[in-house]
Amino acid sequence: MREIDLHVHTDISDGSESPESTVRTAKALGLRAIAVTDHDSVNGVCAAQEAGERYGVEVVSGIELTCGWYDKEVHILGYDIDVHSEKLPPVLDWVIDERNSRNRRMVRRLAEDGIMIDLDELQARHPGSTIGRPHFALCLMEAGIAESVTDAFRRFLDPGQKYYIRRKFMSLEDAVSLIISAGGKAVIAHPRQYRISAESLTELMERGKAAGVSGLECFYSGYGPEDTSKYLAMASLYGFCPTAGSDWHGRHKPHISMGSGIDGELCASYELLENLRAHK
Ligand code: AMP
Ligand code: ZN
Ligand code: FE
Ligand code: FE
Repeated sequence: MREIDLHVHTDISDGSESPESTVRTAKALGLRAIAVTDHDSVNGVCAAQEAGERYGVEVVSGIELTCGWYDKEVHILGYDIDVHSEKLPPVLDWVIDERNSRNRRMVRRLAEDGIMIDLDELQARHPGSTIGRPHFALCLMEAGIAESVTDAFRRFLDPGQKYYIRRKFMSLEDAVSLIISAGGKAVIAHPRQYRISAESLTELMERGKAAGVSGLECFYSGYGPEDTSKYLAMASLYGFCPTAGSDWHGRHKPHISMGSGIDGELCASYELLENLRAHK
């Protein structure tokens, strides 16, 4: 039964919909539970949970943290964290500071080419949101320089492209321990997306295990049966609970549907969430 989606972004990070509207979408789709997992922020969780009460949709408090992994990055999801935990602000404020200084450098580099972006104005247009490359992508589209978000990333914002500037990341261990110290469960997100070698993936699982990871996102938008069985086997090997998430971003990633992914490949039951919660 299609009951849950444990990976959903709102406009508190780079999704297009407010927390309230995100929950309304979940209700319309008949989902029982969603997790709001904005990048580096829990600012949307309370509003989503209030809407969840009204609509009868369970909203799991979540976050998605970006960690450095050699010259790449990996994403760690956190679930059932206490959004009021005093552990969160020092680390999340550091991440926002790092993002802001990276964003200012990107603005300078774009300005050198005559592409003017006003960061204060951008932040004012997205109040309370974590500003990142996706927002720059939207600016490039508005300026008529890119055709779509994907096009903006491919030609300008992906690593190796002209306006990509790497920011400083927290480590995998720091991310996992932050989530656990805030009362949550840590899950390694979308393992195929990192494009790392089999050896590096093994190291990710081992270091994740040692750090206290509880789950692996085995069901994800665009993952076929082969991907999923490979990751299910990996989850079982390391004692991780399999989780499922679409990485829904609303209109900003229009090919992805909440709860069902790209071609209906997602169909996750509530049991996955219960198992994760019971993970020791
Ligand atoms: P940032 O954390 O500001 O560097 O932005 C990273 C975010 O941009 C990711 O978490 C994705 O949501 C999004 N992103 C990264 N690469 C792409 C891409 N090729 N196409 C669309 N969105 C992307
Ligand atoms: Zn995103
Ligand atoms: Fe991610
Ligand atoms: Fe995500």
